[in-house]
Amino acid sequence: MSNEFDVIKKYFSFEVLRDDVVLAGGDDCAIVSLPENKQLLLTTDTLISGVHFPENTSAEDIAYKAIMVNLSDLAAMGAAPAWLTLAISLPEINQCWLQAFSNQFNSVLSKFNISLIGGDTTKGALSITIQAMGFCDKNKILRRDKAETGDKVFVTGELGDASIGLHAVLNNLNDEKLSPCIQRLNRPEARVKFAEELVLYSKCAIDISDGLVADLGHILNASQCGAKIQLPAIPVSASAQHYFDLYHNAETDWSMLLTQGDDYELCFTVNKSNQPAVEKLAKKHQLKLSCIGEITDSNKLEFYGVNNELINFSNTGFKHF
Ligand code: ADP
Ligand code: MG
Repeated sequence: MSNEFDVIKKYFSFEVLRDDVVLAGGDDCAIVSLPENKQLLLTTDTLISGVHFPENTSAEDIAYKAIMVNLSDLAAMGAAPAWLTLAISLPEINQCWLQAFSNQFNSVLSKFNISLIGGDTTKGALSITIQAMGFCDKNKILRRDKAETGDKVFVTGELGDASIGLHAVLNNLNDEKLSPCIQRLNRPEARVKFAEELVLYSKCAIDISDGLVADLGHILNASQCGAKIQLPAIPVSASAQHYFDLYHNAETDWSMLLTQGDDYELCFTVNKSNQPAVEKLAKKHQLKLSCIGEITDSNKLEFYGVNNELINFSNTGFKHF
């Protein structure tokens, strides 16, 4: 195995199962056909070794996460994923690493019925760039600028696990009870199937990749509104609670829950009348869903505590906002 064509042939030429793929690989471009009345949504994300994942991360975890972070962007706008390209830069041809990466890659693609339709293979520091493409009904796409005063604000899953997982990995905290957090760091779950149906009840969503404060902030800026968020409603996993109990003096570290990255959960807003339907949808997908607050016309993101008091983080020693 001496050149990139051998690598592409052996590790990145998967069977193409979708019939909307006219040509995948082997020419200068791929060809696909788009269904009528749908719009194409495209997104790209790069993962660089040592920057986006610790250098000792396994090939399987890298493959998994590289796809998921892109699918999470598609989910954030309600798109059904269809095709993907992979630009990979490798320091060397390590067959064992490539086989593990390739197997995991193929298995995630199969699970979501996505076809790998092209890419680029180069030599260099390990980095993976994926472009994911999907489609959605023209007037149903979820956008950041569609929140309205009075909408309820929801998040899927639990927040902060990945940031605690990263902390555990970097500090060698050997604690079995933190392994769910490390799992969330390495194997985020894009809320793809839920999002495809969420378009029926919501107009506005974002995926939480940089922490709730930053990402909900993007919705508020784009929609020119504010939000009241109830801190006690923020979903915290048992593993995260264990971390706070044992490693943070039994105090919740709000900065870890709300301002750090890699959650890949969805934050979205829903007109009150659609709240029951959205809750039913989450049950159908066996997805935890939390209503954490409401959109206001104030232009401010405000947090409230257990007794509905406005929390001033600077007075409680919280310095990250
Ligand atoms: P070109 O020089 O025309 O850009 P390349 O030599 O980069 O072509 O790639 C040859 C073919 O292999 C192209 O069809 C390209 O899409 C495909 N390809 C290259 N790298 C990958 C990869 N990592 N995964 C999937 N397809 C790839
Ligand atoms: Mg090329």
